[in-house]
Amino acid sequence: MVYLDANATEPLHPEARATMLAALDVTGNPSSVHAAGRAARRVLEGAREALAARFGALAQNLVFTSGGTEADALAIHALGAGRRVIVGATEHDAVRAAVPAPSLLPVDRDGVADLDVLASWLATGTPALVCLMLANNETGTIQPVAGAAQLCRRYGAWLHVDAVQAAGRMDVRLSALGAHSIAISSHKLGGPPGAGALLLAPEAASIAPLIAGGGQERGRRGGTPPLPAIAGFAAAASVADGAGRLAPMRDAAEAAAIVDGAVVCGGGAERLANTTCLALPGIRADAQVIALDLDGIAVSAGAACSSGKVTASHVLAAMGLGALAGQAIRVSLPWNADATDVAAFAAAYRRMADQLRGALAPRAA
Ligand code: PLP
Repeated sequence: MVYLDANATEPLHPEARATMLAALDVTGNPSSVHAAGRAARRVLEGAREALAARFGALAQNLVFTSGGTEADALAIHALGAGRRVIVGATEHDAVRAAVPAPSLLPVDRDGVADLDVLASWLATGTPALVCLMLANNETGTIQPVAGAAQLCRRYGAWLHVDAVQAAGRMDVRLSALGAHSIAISSHKLGGPPGAGALLLAPEAASIAPLIAGGGQERGRRGGTPPLPAIAGFAAAASVADGAGRLAPMRDAAEAAAIVDGAVVCGGGAERLANTTCLALPGIRADAQVIALDLDGIAVSAGAACSSGKVTASHVLAAMGLGALAGQAIRVSLPWNADATDVAAFAAAYRRMADQLRGALAPRAA
């Protein structure tokens, strides 16, 4: 199988696996005062320090969570209370589902958020939380987060950035972005599933928990932390060195698909180097995914989290792509992709396009 669905989950980095195996033998609970507990605590705090340094936050302002979804939900619960919550129209469901009555910030045809609209909304003076992702999971479109941060700071709004797809693939630093919080997830950067983090700016660091429990994470997230997953998360983050190497391969895959009639969604924007979103006019996305799967290629239609649904992508619909919103697949190269994967994809894409178009063609009487 050729695995081209990294934005759903990245393959595990060998360094993460080795670190997790070692952490499985650490018996103590990091909250216990005895030597075994202290040994576990050292593993936990070492991971926290490494991740905080990597992503531009203070270690004490990094809150471990179960993943990206929980980190987004915690940020919105804590920073959105009593505020108008402004949400980019192409945000992930992890954000959308956590906001009962969002103000949806429009995007252009490439999926880039409209900062003029944001400025006009913030200028009303209503206290606000803005949620703007750094890179989109379906198209790879990179949002103008630094510009949004400037506006938020000018008008006294909080800014939460979902950096789940960007972390490990591009330079992500909370301090440089100017955001008040960022969400990251282990399994999206080559670590195991089951761990994520919310990184908070100093002025936003005292937050109310979503899960209170036993007061872990300085009272911001209760529950015994999953030490092996967290250790693997930190190990993966230390070796994930950006997706730049993948850009020529992504471009080659895209070029091959264009020859076969594909339209690149979000192609005019700055994008993650590993991601392309390819619409084949007139052909349903789920049919494309199934045909490619039968040919040994793993890609997805829209977000993996919504697989099973055959509804059109809300991301592509917000970009004004009309019917194409139900006709696009996402190809996302994993950190270990190579040229043979791209060649296999290009050949399979051609077979798929020919076969599905043939199935649509009117039959001779
Ligand atoms: N945010 C984005 C942009 C994502 O792509 C995803 C997962 O696909 C999430 C959040 C949720 O992350 P997790 O799977 O770690 O809960």
